Amino acid sequence: MAPVMSVTTSSDPVTPESTATAGSASANGAVTARPGREVVFSGMQPSGGFHIGNYLGAVRDWVTLQDQHRCFYCVVDLHALTQSYDAAEMKGRVLDMAVELLACGIDPERATLFVQSEVAEHSELAWILSCVAPYGELSRMTQFKEKGERAEYVNTGLFTYPVLMAADILLYRATRVPVGEDQIQHLELTREIVRRFNNRWGELFKEPLPLHREPLRILGLDGKQKMSKSLNNYVGVGDAPEVIRKKISNAFTDETRLRKKDPGHPESCYVCGLQRFFSPEAKVAELHEGCRTARIGCVDSKRALAEAMVETLAPIGERKRQLLSQPGRVEEILHAGAEQARRVARETLAEVRERLGLLPRRP
Ligand code: SF4
Repeated sequence: MAPVMSVTTSSDPVTPESTATAGSASANGAVTARPGREVVFSGMQPSGGFHIGNYLGAVRDWVTLQDQHRCFYCVVDLHALTQSYDAAEMKGRVLDMAVELLACGIDPERATLFVQSEVAEHSELAWILSCVAPYGELSRMTQFKEKGERAEYVNTGLFTYPVLMAADILLYRATRVPVGEDQIQHLELTREIVRRFNNRWGELFKEPLPLHREPLRILGLDGKQKMSKSLNNYVGVGDAPEVIRKKISNAFTDETRLRKKDPGHPESCYVCGLQRFFSPEAKVAELHEGCRTARIGCVDSKRALAEAMVETLAPIGERKRQLLSQPGRVEEILHAGAEQARRVARETLAEVRERLGLLPRRP
């Protein structure tokens, strides 16, 4: 999965400096914005379900943020069109992702969860913003250059991807955008687009600020590359317990520990590193000490990790089963979310059209 924007931890500093904007969302959406809350936008490309790297690095924080701010969470299927994909699978990928987001704790009563292509205003604002987006800066986007180098041919959508991202953010007047290192450049471009828009058509948008988070790069089970579904080195959030146990039993460990009586190096061990996300501190310390003194071996350490993982992910699996047992429920939630999002987006676009001197759209 390629997150468009990743998210922050709840401990990140948040300064409530645009509460008026945050408050305005309440008039339109069913989810109200209390004074002092920021408006947060974050999106993820639909890749079906996600793995524990996505969960630990992003989704877990989305869940926390929905209690602190007015959050718009979006499955960005239009962004996904820039890559080659099988159209027959797209709907399933979108729904699977939505199911897992809900199962992980995204609550439609507290946040707006919707699919990008259901709100046509994203595309319309993206076109308008492309009329002020600087070509030179777009061509210098690192992700564009990297993806462009790998692609058989470079489509224009790949080039204007950051403009659509700017539209995603500005439609909801988002004041904070959770970003990882790899998205800082795109957010900077959004800020530049805001300056150019305001300069040309009058002050309308605020420059969104990042919600920084500590980079959390979860390696795959090979212990070498980033965890990824395409590399098949992942544990899925929705994996069954027996699958998790099997995958962890094959996870990479310290190659220098040849015999069980050799002391281990938990500080640099992949398995031991993962333990801190799934076990209480005291248990992690006990396991690490066991490895360090060769009291336990890799099999014991992996078994403990797998069981902790199974226990952590069990409630998510249970909620997922419940959602899947209600046919049409997830679509209903997404449609309701799109309805909320659309109300806010239409209001923004009406103001934009007025600034641009375009005819008002009939309701
Ligand atoms: S003994 Fe422990 S620290 Fe060493 S490789 Fe195995 S799991 Fe890692």
